[in-house]
Amino acid sequence: MDRRTVLVLGGGVGGLVAASVLRRELAPQDRVVLVERSTKHTFWPSLLWLMSGSRKPEQVQRNLEPLARRGIELRHGDITEIDPERRQVVLDGEELLGDALVVSLGASLEPERVPGLAEAGGNFYTLDGAKQVYEQASTLQTGRVAVVVADVPFKCPAAPYEAAMLLESLMRRRKVRDQVTLTVYAAEPAPMGVAGPEVSRGVVGFVRQHGIDYHPSTKLARVDASGKRLHFDTGDQAEYDVLAVVPPHAAPEVVRNSPLAGPSGWIPIDAATCETRFDNVFAIGDVTTVPLKLGKPLPKAGVFAHGQAQVVALTLAARLRGRGQEQRFEGQGECFIEMGGGLAGFARGNFYAEPAPQVQMYRAGRHWHAAKVAFERNWWRTWF
Ligand SMILES: Cc1cc2nc3c(=O)[nH]c(=O)nc-3n(C[C@H](O)[C@H](O)[C@H](O)COP(=O)(O)OP(=O)(O)OC[C@H]3O[C@@H](n4cnc5c(N)ncnc54)[C@H](O)[C@@H]3O)c2cc1C
Repeated sequence: MDRRTVLVLGGGVGGLVAASVLRRELAPQDRVVLVERSTKHTFWPSLLWLMSGSRKPEQVQRNLEPLARRGIELRHGDITEIDPERRQVVLDGEELLGDALVVSLGASLEPERVPGLAEAGGNFYTLDGAKQVYEQASTLQTGRVAVVVADVPFKCPAAPYEAAMLLESLMRRRKVRDQVTLTVYAAEPAPMGVAGPEVSRGVVGFVRQHGIDYHPSTKLARVDASGKRLHFDTGDQAEYDVLAVVPPHAAPEVVRNSPLAGPSGWIPIDAATCETRFDNVFAIGDVTTVPLKLGKPLPKAGVFAHGQAQVVALTLAARLRGRGQEQRFEGQGECFIEMGGGLAGFARGNFYAEPAPQVQMYRAGRHWHAAKVAFERNWWRTWF
């Protein structure tokens, strides 16, 4: 009997979902090969709770091994070449060939692009960085906490604002709030701008209610790590005691060097099918770029990687096995906005609506925080 092979590149949010749904939908003799550098899957949204003290590192990661027991072939290593024409990749020198590729390699974090930033640390978009921020924030008695969005684009548009509010909440819990100032310096003009002005105003309102200063359109130019001083492209400077930073993002090097990359380095895809310009080569999640009518790209967020992964897996089942129908991603997205103290806001809508995304902001409440905690629990239950 014929045997099909799908190579899923990346075992993060998009790759995990794509490989799992493909395994369920393809024929038993078909191969689903998940190629991932790490032996572990990290649930990135939980890093915000790690940096503010309500999760331990072992609670935000799981071994990918259980996927092998369900018939997904795991290959660990570094993908160094992608040939979309031949649907072939090179993994640590070995060539792997597929009938279809699903590229979900995420975004690469590049603090070294800002002089002094790598030395300063505080990159809470990594597990070690989130741990480091917690260690410093949980011992700070008096001083300045700076939350910095170094550049755009970056994944999870809400995360830096949530980080600031969660750190503020930590200071209140530790009863040092009156001795600590918190400030957000962001390279973007408004939070969650693609979701529209109502959402931006809502998030700025949440941040200000927490007594957090907010400086938009302030791009980080360099950091004096020993003097603990930030220099911005506006000419402004600021001192800090604790730094929590979203570093510059870029498409992974292996993608930038492949024919898949568009002019920005990210992979252009069909907004609905997620197919690249190469047959049976799909790309999903943060590594892609999807221009929207309002002139900005679809934000980089797990909710989109997750939705796109399901669409692509079902489409491939239809194409390779004649099962069901090809699917279309319709641009639905939603986002919890953690505010600390057991409170969260929530926004949901259609990001493909024209001429601009239609996103509604819901009133903050304890139930949204509970829903985010339930989402985390279900993530592990569903996929592991
Ligand atoms: C602190 C934080 C909070 C967040 N909160 C939310 C949230 O609340 N809601 C939301 O929707 N999104 C959130 N996000 C964003 C979300 O995590 C990402 O958008 C999502 O993970 C994208 O999925 P992906 O599959 O595209 O990439 P990733 O999940 O980043 O996966 C990419 C994978 O590819 C692997 N890889 C890369 N290059 C190679 C290579 N050369 N060889 C082998 N493997 C490679 C990486 O190791 C990685 O595992 C958050 C992110 C952070 C950092």
